[in-house]
Amino acid sequence: MSLEKLDRKYILNTYDKKYVNFIKGKNSTLYDETMKEYIDFGSGIGVVSLGHGNKDITEIIHKQVENITHISNLFSIEPQVKLAEKIVELSGYNMSCFFANSGAEANEGAIKIARKYGQKNYNGRRFKVLTLENSFHGRTIATAKATGQKKVHKKDFAPYPDGFSFDSNIDKIYSSIDEETVAVMMELVQGEGGIYPFEIEEVQKLAKYLKQRNILLIIDEVQTGVYRTGDFLASNYYEIEPDIITIAKGLGGGISIGVVMTKHKDIFQPGDHGSTFGGNYLSCTVGLKVCELLEEHKKSGSLNQIRDYFSYSLLKISMDHDDIFNQMVGLGLMKGLPLKDKFLLPKIINVALEEGVIVLRSGRNILRFLPPLTISREEISEGFKRLDKALKRIKNEG
Ligand SMILES: *Cc1c(COP(=O)(O)O)cnc(C)c1O
Repeated sequence: MSLEKLDRKYILNTYDKKYVNFIKGKNSTLYDETMKEYIDFGSGIGVVSLGHGNKDITEIIHKQVENITHISNLFSIEPQVKLAEKIVELSGYNMSCFFANSGAEANEGAIKIARKYGQKNYNGRRFKVLTLENSFHGRTIATAKATGQKKVHKKDFAPYPDGFSFDSNIDKIYSSIDEETVAVMMELVQGEGGIYPFEIEEVQKLAKYLKQRNILLIIDEVQTGVYRTGDFLASNYYEIEPDIITIAKGLGGGISIGVVMTKHKDIFQPGDHGSTFGGNYLSCTVGLKVCELLEEHKKSGSLNQIRDYFSYSLLKISMDHDDIFNQMVGLGLMKGLPLKDKFLLPKIINVALEEGVIVLRSGRNILRFLPPLTISREEISEGFKRLDKALKRIKNEG
């Protein structure tokens, strides 16, 4: 039976997916079963930050699984402690970490910390978490409710937990804050909501306002974290000091991991939170290696060079096709091209795939780019050559 047939038979129907059978990957290049080559501008939605089949990552995975993979959090785990130390050091924030397995799970942890903070300091009078429209915080029941998109709050899954509401922009948050508000949770660059970076001044102003009122600021860096936007965290770039930060996607180089970190180190007590798989030897050893390699990548200047060349190439294609695209948006290697006609989006993604380049969507009308942070110049040029070909084909075919 074909892969497509088997997939349709055995896998629940939750994704509108393409039935390409990738069998080999090297940095930002993938091959399907016919050995057709693809340039990967998506890195598995910002996950394989060091590309596919990275030598140092594979080596450290081999070494670790030959030894211990998992022992449980009933014991102290050295690689977990070391990774936490590294994350804290790179972030520059005086925080402690809890390890989970995904972004949504990290955000659940963040919400629990905020709720308990409200319990502890305000006798439970503060519990509401405010979020922003077009945000994305995950697919569990609570993080779906935290997500500021009506279409995510389907009544199919009701009832949802109370204490969440979202505002259409930062300005609106001020008037939504009331005596029950415990936290504001937001992304600094909205990943699913259109690669939309908030203005630095407006974020700093909000952070200051919240601090004065002891309302927690939760920054969801699941997509922006680990050098995706240029700095270790987007919070560093925005020069803010959040109370709680979550990280996931790019941290594991392909191995599942999620982290919630906070400066409120004494909120959780034994029994408050936990995870069977979270923070195990494997994911943390790999996470530490990812951090070390990317730290070096950044220090050497090569990350910035790649970012500049990628941005330049993206700018060029947007200008060569200014009948299709509006001005480029985004930060670092988290970029988007807004389409003038949103109905072209699926068409572009499909034809680009046929031409051998993987691009993503974001929101209703944004073509999204999250290439591996190690993508080579050759891969960038080749990818954009193919995208250019795809766009020309679409125009010729009308
Ligand atoms: C992907 C994402 C999540 C959810 O992460 P999962 O690992 O899919 O649970 C949450 N927040 C943001 C900003 C994301 O981009």
